[in-house]
Amino acid sequence: MSKVVALANQKGGVGKTTTAINLAASVALLGKKVLLVDADPQANATSGLGFDINLDGIYECITGQAQPADVILRSNDVKKLDLLPSSIDLVAADTELPAMENAHRVVKSIIDSVRDNYDYIFIDCSPSLGYTTVNILTAADSVLIPVQCEYLALEGLSKLLNTVKKVKSALNPQLEIEGFVLTMYMKNRLNNQVVNEVRQHFGGLAFETVIQRNVRLGEAPSHGKPIMLYDASAVGATNYLNLAKEFLKRNRKH
Ligand code: ADP
Ligand code: MG
Repeated sequence: MSKVVALANQKGGVGKTTTAINLAASVALLGKKVLLVDADPQANATSGLGFDINLDGIYECITGQAQPADVILRSNDVKKLDLLPSSIDLVAADTELPAMENAHRVVKSIIDSVRDNYDYIFIDCSPSLGYTTVNILTAADSVLIPVQCEYLALEGLSKLLNTVKKVKSALNPQLEIEGFVLTMYMKNRLNNQVVNEVRQHFGGLAFETVIQRNVRLGEAPSHGKPIMLYDASAVGATNYLNLAKEFLKRNRKH
């Protein structure tokens, strides 16, 4: 049985896309069949894996102009990794979805139609809690929340957690928090404080693996590659492989 994990945080620039690409690639390299769904109109996950951001993708699936099987792409570098791409057209989804039939479950029906082909499906959300994100949370089994190690890191998380709670009670009772991943960690007092705060607040839901700040992680997308294929010796590659191992360990009963 497959598991659908949404990467969400309405704050931009916290490491959602970097985590989506590199966790998905790592889980695939560890032998699982993985689909990465780019659900952000900025299409950073699509370009970050080296693909054109003008292709048909999730938006055309939402509007019924395409079937997922027609638009899903095979990763060039990672055998077990597929991508459902995005494009700027997806900005229209927030206003168009509400008028559609079964409006809250449009993304769910797309995901459900392909989920048997995969062990894990990761969905990279846009920095918003709008209609499309609610659709994604309705389609997901769990939410993975990247948190940047910075001042006021926890600010805004209660709004996200509240949205998750609402979706869980109204639309998707199975929805769970997969965990919190601390990103862009640097060894200094402020960052250590944030790590401690998140651990105190969320206990075991905080992943033990912390993603360090690493310039190679910022460079890899411009080469269209996950970090382990761009520079396997980078600390970012080690961090994300460790995160993937921890993720799979937590999900071993899955
Ligand atoms: P989001 O998807 O939440 O907006 P991104 O994953 O796009 O965030 O990250 C924001 C920026 O920070 C990007 O330029 C990305 O390359 C960079 N970045 C993300 N994680 C790291 C990291 N661990 N070390 C260095 N740069 C990072
Ligand atoms: Mg992003």
